[in-house]
Amino acid sequence: MHLQTHIMSGWCAANCFKLTARERFLSMVAAVLPDLDGVTYPFGQEAYWATHHIYGHNLVFTLAASGVLAAFCVARIKCFLLFLALIHLHLIMDLLGSGEGWTISYWFPFCHTEYSWSFGWDFNSLENKLAGLFFLLWCLWIAVYRQRTPLEWPMPKLDAQLAALAQKLRLRRTKSPGKPEI
Ligand SMILES: [Zn+2]
Repeated sequence: MHLQTHIMSGWCAANCFKLTARERFLSMVAAVLPDLDGVTYPFGQEAYWATHHIYGHNLVFTLAASGVLAAFCVARIKCFLLFLALIHLHLIMDLLGSGEGWTISYWFPFCHTEYSWSFGWDFNSLENKLAGLFFLLWCLWIAVYRQRTPLEWPMPKLDAQLAALAQKLRLRRTKSPGKPEI
């Protein structure tokens, strides 16, 4: 599935729990981290096919990445479990929306069995666009009603400005007079 959809899934899930700003940011990192194995893309199609969905999309990477990220958190166990769940969500989203041929070697490097779901859809499909739209609307809801955006930890000033704008739009909408009743 698309990178931005993975990132937004981490942000939305993190906002369902009581976390610090850094933990919410790391949740987005966890949600997209498996795609680190796609950095071989500039080195050609063959290199990309040989690494993507293999080195970052397996249980060993999931455990290691969750552990490393959780080390930077206050609530380490809680965050470890959340990151574990988010990376598995990434794998599920990929099995659904990566298109034909993109399998996942979940037990790599111990076993090379490749998994795929026959009911998945193409990468550039309407389903992937709808999934992206779903998470985007959820992000907007969080901005309006929780007063925070995915920029909250790396760019707090810009986040505050965007949150204030969202609040202003919300208040304007609430205050605007409705149609007169006839
Ligand atoms: Zn992926």
